[in-house]
Amino acid sequence: MRQRRQQAADRRRRDAVGWLDRFEALADGPAPFVHRHDGGGSFHVVVGVCVHGDEVGTLPAAVALIDDLRQGRRRFGGRLDIVLGNPGAVRAGTRCVDSDLNRVFVPDRADDTEGRRAGALMPLFDACDLFVDLHQTGAPTLAPFYTLPWRRRDDDWARALGASHLWVTRRSGESFSPGTCCADEYVRAQGKPGLTVELSRKGIDGQTTRHTTEILDRLLVLAETPGDIQAAAAASRPLRYLQTVHREPFVDARQQLRPELCNLMPVHAHELLSVPQSPLVIAPRAGVLLFPKFPPRDADGRAKGPVTGELFHLAAELEGHPAEVWGEA
Ligand SMILES: [Zn+2]
Repeated sequence: MRQRRQQAADRRRRDAVGWLDRFEALADGPAPFVHRHDGGGSFHVVVGVCVHGDEVGTLPAAVALIDDLRQGRRRFGGRLDIVLGNPGAVRAGTRCVDSDLNRVFVPDRADDTEGRRAGALMPLFDACDLFVDLHQTGAPTLAPFYTLPWRRRDDDWARALGASHLWVTRRSGESFSPGTCCADEYVRAQGKPGLTVELSRKGIDGQTTRHTTEILDRLLVLAETPGDIQAAAAASRPLRYLQTVHREPFVDARQQLRPELCNLMPVHAHELLSVPQSPLVIAPRAGVLLFPKFPPRDADGRAKGPVTGELFHLAAELEGHPAEVWGEA
């Protein structure tokens, strides 16, 4: 059983590395693993894939877009950079090599794999007008969702793009993780729109490839006429807004969530979230589950590696539009 699982994991990693190699062979940009398309216009879009090396589900659609743009099968009249964030981690089949790339877009970076990669990518972000970062979740998710603080400018792009109708949001100016900086935060700090969307459970599958292709096609249409974005947003389906209302600290390696729990699954107050052999984990209130953690476990059921961070989040619907609840931003 374990051997079959290992073989399947090896096959998935080889598949991802195959797409990585195709990306590298096609990409022709100002930094390694970046493809630049120059359609003549001035509006400059950056699309990020694989900022986390194990979130490879967007790779086939990204490779197809590069190929199509090069062959003239698809067109875009602006400037587009398609950035494969962390190639070393994709090759290794891991989230990162030395440190989380999506935390180190800061002036004071470590001189490690991700610190150097952030340094190579920051000039692209400095020059762009819009950044869209495509991620995947660790556990399965019932639907895609945006995750970023609320701002009107980002709302227009998020709604018009329609990558999801759900937005896990927070008050503008609240950092995702204090003292660090994600790629999208780095772009937004320059006053430009920067979106992060979680598409599906990490890995390559047909549904994610189709959805990513739709998002990229829609993005290229919208970015041809960026001045029309408010009208495009108004004509698009409204978004639903969720905010995090609870973060459960992960404090004991024996804590183990029920295996069927996934992102956006509704839970009720006092619901038992742990398996029988685990210390009790109870939902302190009703909400929808986000980022449930399922670390690898040893034979005694204890999580391997350091016990850090949070076991899960709970989110609840914002009681009104963010502009009403928090004011315009
Ligand atoms: Zn990610």
